[in-house]
Amino acid sequence: MDYQDTLRHQGLRKRLVDGLQVKGIRDAKVLAAIGKVPRHLFLDSSFIQFAYKDQAFPIGAGQTISQPYTVAFQTLLLQVEPHDKILEVGTGSGYQAAVLIEMGATVYTIERQKELYLKTQALLPQIGYNPKFFYGDGYKGLPTYGPFDKIIVTAGAPIIPPDLVQQLKIGGRMVIPLGPPEKQVMTLVIKTGENEFVKENHGTFVFVPMLKGIVK
Ligand code: SAH
Repeated sequence: MDYQDTLRHQGLRKRLVDGLQVKGIRDAKVLAAIGKVPRHLFLDSSFIQFAYKDQAFPIGAGQTISQPYTVAFQTLLLQVEPHDKILEVGTGSGYQAAVLIEMGATVYTIERQKELYLKTQALLPQIGYNPKFFYGDGYKGLPTYGPFDKIIVTAGAPIIPPDLVQQLKIGGRMVIPLGPPEKQVMTLVIKTGENEFVKENHGTFVFVPMLKGIVK
């Protein structure tokens, strides 16, 4: 694969960003980050013509790269600040991690499917993004690396995983799609005390399910 970002790609990306703005994403920093990440390099080369459509897309192992609107929306809710320490559950293609890194965050990302973990760990550093990669079960988080300023879950979860709340700093934010496999409510969890949090609902989305355990 050759890792080119041509003027044509940049033009398509500009149109994607304009489209997200029309759909209500107004945060300049989020739009700038999406405008920088070469999304076409996250898809297999035969699918490059889909890279800058505002759609989810298959990335292998039954998983998808999230729709750009969804990535923008979750990123917006997270209120990323430079130097934030962020845990991402569901590395997948690595696209969301790249967007967070563009915003100045330090990203810890965890994936349960070994095939995807290996593929993304090999690709991302080659295009200039260096999150810390982990192969494991996101329900457990990363107890030895926490606490985190922010946590983003990029798979649909049936419950708020208690281990993740525990690994969130007080005052920290977690964005997690909650609900059954058919559809989930985008939920913002703000940790207000050692054993307290408040929740806000932000509309309906459809994600691949957050599953327990790891896949070898
Ligand atoms: N953030 C990704 C979206 C990937 S789709 C991107 O930008 O491309 C969701 C991912 O979550 C899938 O790769 C899936 O394997 C992973 N996943 C599901 N349950 C998980 C769990 N318990 N722990 C870690 N990863 C999980």
